[in-house]
Amino acid sequence: MNNVVSKVAVVGSGISGAVCASTLARNGVSVTVFDSARGPGGRMSQRREISEDGKELLFDHGAPFFTVSNADVLALVREWESGGLVAEWKVNFGSYDCISKKFVDGQQDGTSKKYVGVPGMNSICKTLCNQPGVESKFGMGVGRLEWLEDEKLWSVMGLDGQSLGHFKGVVASDKNVVSPRFRQVTGQPPPLDLSFAPELAVKLEDIPVDPCFALMLAFAEPLSLIPLKGFSFQNSKVLSWAHCDSSKPGRSTTSERWVLHSTMEYAKCIISQTGLRKPSDATLTKVAEEMFQEFQGTSLNISQPIFRKAHRWGSAFPAASIAKEEKCLWDGQKKVAICGDFCASPNVEGAILSGLAASSKLMEILCCL
Ligand SMILES: Cc1cc2nc3c(=O)[nH]c(=O)nc-3n(C[C@H](O)[C@H](O)[C@H](O)COP(=O)(O)OP(=O)(O)OC[C@H]3O[C@@H](n4cnc5c(N)ncnc54)[C@H](O)[C@@H]3O)c2cc1C
Repeated sequence: MNNVVSKVAVVGSGISGAVCASTLARNGVSVTVFDSARGPGGRMSQRREISEDGKELLFDHGAPFFTVSNADVLALVREWESGGLVAEWKVNFGSYDCISKKFVDGQQDGTSKKYVGVPGMNSICKTLCNQPGVESKFGMGVGRLEWLEDEKLWSVMGLDGQSLGHFKGVVASDKNVVSPRFRQVTGQPPPLDLSFAPELAVKLEDIPVDPCFALMLAFAEPLSLIPLKGFSFQNSKVLSWAHCDSSKPGRSTTSERWVLHSTMEYAKCIISQTGLRKPSDATLTKVAEEMFQEFQGTSLNISQPIFRKAHRWGSAFPAASIAKEEKCLWDGQKKVAICGDFCASPNVEGAILSGLAASSKLMEILCCL
């Protein structure tokens, strides 16, 4: 593998990396995607669990849905929709007040269509990472990206220092690839040393992020007192959002599955006690208990679930957008692009726009790839 010069390496198979990889491949560039996770999707991934009685339970435990306002993104989403990868989730949302213990208003988000991946939020990234011209390697974290000045190539190395190949261009679609936070989490320096581009490095130095816990719940019977399939919580210190995952198009309805999101303040408080490294089972059990208790404290007659598990998203939402109109960072000399929602806006649409911007930068120099 190491003798072959593939063209572009994309680090990360979240929606920004997947869109960038597939756009490059459609324009004739051969791409290798690396992701440290077991499958594609990043914060749009789908979690597979097994209940005590052996049933498969699938949860969109990251982004539950997305909306679109940009015309380029809409064109892409329509293409995915006609290929059956995406469908509109036609439900109304509302808001539940934990003090008055009532739903206080109906539809909150105007007329925006809510889109979901089908059969899971990860299906878009899965398909993009499998298309011709894209080779995808999961369970393969990138530990080092090194520019070889003489060869004018990037050397990509794994977390154990093993060579993953040489590439003419590189796309880093996660800020942790360059952020000092990588060291706090892994104990190693971040894979990409941006000292050759100090004006980019400074932008990436300290991007604030908001964390979130997701609680996955499955019930044998529907929660019949809840009139809505998605709602936010008012006046709760613990919960910010709930949605019925099994009500989305293309999902199994053998059990009713809900996903709750914590407030950012609650997640920050837990992380301040436990640190940034992977949370222990004891921490996740405590979080699951506290989030569920808050849900049961509503007037919504919440029965005992047949399955309950919490997941931590340490960097759920970037709290800054660092690339403004450009939507990605770019160094044309070394052919390195940095993209992701943190470059554009903290949502799926922002990540797509950023992935498209990164692919455009590389396509401008297509002849050199
Ligand atoms: C709980 C939650 C709720 C959300 N709700 C919404 C919502 O309602 N609507 C909406 O539009 N958006 C929502 N979002 C935000 C949305 O999910 C993100 O904006 C979007 O998915 C970000 O995509 P991305 O490609 O920028 O990053 P990511 O999806 O984070 O992808 C980055 C990828 O890079 C990989 N990676 C990182 N470092 C390495 C390495 N060294 N080697 C190899 N791989 C690496 C990671 O494993 C990951 O797969 C939500 C997110 C969360 C967590």
